[in-house]
Amino acid sequence: MKIANYKTYFLLLTFYIFSSCAVNKFTPSELQIINKVNDNGRLRVLLVENTQDSIILYKKSNEIKVDNENTDLQNFVQALYKTVQDPEKPGVGIAAPQVGINRSIIWVQRFDKEAAPFDVYFNIQIIKYSDEKNNGMEGCLSVDNYRGTVSRSTEITIKYDTFDHKNQIENIKGFTAVIFQHEIDHLNGILYTDRIQDKALLIKTQ
Ligand SMILES: [Zn+2]
Repeated sequence: MKIANYKTYFLLLTFYIFSSCAVNKFTPSELQIINKVNDNGRLRVLLVENTQDSIILYKKSNEIKVDNENTDLQNFVQALYKTVQDPEKPGVGIAAPQVGINRSIIWVQRFDKEAAPFDVYFNIQIIKYSDEKNNGMEGCLSVDNYRGTVSRSTEITIKYDTFDHKNQIENIKGFTAVIFQHEIDHLNGILYTDRIQDKALLIKTQ
């Protein structure tokens, strides 16, 4: 009985160590990338045509410890927001791997809310997809000069953390649901072009 208790304690301790490593703060090498903001407070957007960049874009992202007092996290979230708001190359959403950080952080423009604000989401995943799908045209800040038709669920259920709340669950419909699916794909190392089997549906814009 006593041995069994020790075993349980050991297993719990091992689990605790593993789980606390999995959801961690930024590493020193991540902080190096984050601190490379330009004069406008933006980060360089990685491009799939660049071999080094594509390695990061095709990697799965890890979770992040959400702490609204953590200035590194605040700074990164702001830099990511400024990057998606670049007037020369604006987007409707962006995921952290697109600036070289493989962490589950995305910004999405909420066209389903009044005044279409940008909101930030941490540790986000899709827990339900509608069977109903729609074809729609997509582009990506990391795939220059292309647009393509992708089939996406018309409605999804997402689970995420915000700066203030843990484990929010929300239903999303329409174009905003498409943006969420596109950005969450980035966190799983998937680009929209990977979802286009018929390459004739991929159009060069320049
Ligand atoms: Zn994208």
